[in-house]
Amino acid sequence: MQTESLPAGWAPFDYTPRTRLVFGANAVEKVGALAAELGAKRVLLVTDKGIVTAGHAARVEHLLQSAGLGVVTFDAVRENPTTRDVSDCVKVARAAGTDLFVGLGGGSSMDTAKGCNFILTNGGQMKDYWGVGKATMPMLPLIAIPTTAGTGSECQSAALIADEHTHQKMACLDPKVAARVAILDPELTVSQPPRVTACTGIDAIAHAVETAVTKKRNPLSMMYSHEAFKLTVTSFERVMTHPLDLEARGRMLLGAAFAGTAIENSMLGAAHSAANPLTAHFGVVHGQAVGLMLPHVVRFNSADPATRRAYAELASAPEIACVSEGEEQAVEALIARLNKLLNIAGMPRSLAECHVKREMIPTLAEEATKQWTATFNPRKIVVADFVRLYEAAFAARPDGE
Ligand SMILES: [Zn+2]
Repeated sequence: MQTESLPAGWAPFDYTPRTRLVFGANAVEKVGALAAELGAKRVLLVTDKGIVTAGHAARVEHLLQSAGLGVVTFDAVRENPTTRDVSDCVKVARAAGTDLFVGLGGGSSMDTAKGCNFILTNGGQMKDYWGVGKATMPMLPLIAIPTTAGTGSECQSAALIADEHTHQKMACLDPKVAARVAILDPELTVSQPPRVTACTGIDAIAHAVETAVTKKRNPLSMMYSHEAFKLTVTSFERVMTHPLDLEARGRMLLGAAFAGTAIENSMLGAAHSAANPLTAHFGVVHGQAVGLMLPHVVRFNSADPATRRAYAELASAPEIACVSEGEEQAVEALIARLNKLLNIAGMPRSLAECHVKREMIPTLAEEATKQWTATFNPRKIVVADFVRLYEAAFAARPDGE
């Protein structure tokens, strides 16, 4: 008997949770016991200077030492880590005889630790692992401790490393590179500067919105997208106005981790494809670049009926809208809420404000079309569409029009 194929929203999935989540205020206190449990003797703590200044690195070093473990710290992580950053980290890891990584900080710290893990255990260069499942040898365990509520890297089996020269971002995916444990401690996120809270928070919200509609979306990924959207969209304003509110911080942190889990299962879409060339050519911070493009991408995608329905359902999860009152209305309510949050974040709302050169739009559009994430966008998107999206974003006003 001939059966119909499953409709949009029912993409196949094969999911094993790889990362143990340990959530709670002061959960970081458990890092020594968790590392010892994983058999560690010599830990490489991978972090950045800001985290050292905030005092988190010294605290984690002390916690690991108190559990009888040797610790060496690599604190030279930079934003959007490159192949050079990974090589520097590998030298330190090799000299230290590392047998476990702790990635402490934002997505860049976790990605640098993951990139280092690839090279230390499997040899070669980062580009050898660009793609899916290229590592053949076992890898070392990683404990991820995010101090921002953003990338969700702690729940992903991917390292995002840029080529030092071309700035091309290479997504290196492998189940073995996923963190064994993610420690989600909202206390650690309180120290973020307001601009970091804003950029990473918007990124997390964009992850929830994009994963909710991709071609690969399925009932499991949508469960994570919807919960992530609910948690983040209802607490973003609060963390901006009341940065010490631990519950709001906890909601953002958990929302970002759930959105990361959604990415693991459904990938991302055209807002991320359009954002990467803006970062590569004009140094626009990732969260800002994604935020600039997101409302325009939602409007573009909502021309597709199944995607419009998926956006309407997403907007209904935190009761921004109600699907039964009309899908188009729900999508408009979603776009209005995104615009409001972007304004609360104090983000530039037009490409012109970010000093993007208008004559570069054709080049940006070419590059956006080649991004891997574009292939998962729910509506087919070609160069001319990206040109229109960039043009719309070029001189957009804060209401998004
Ligand atoms: Zn992102």
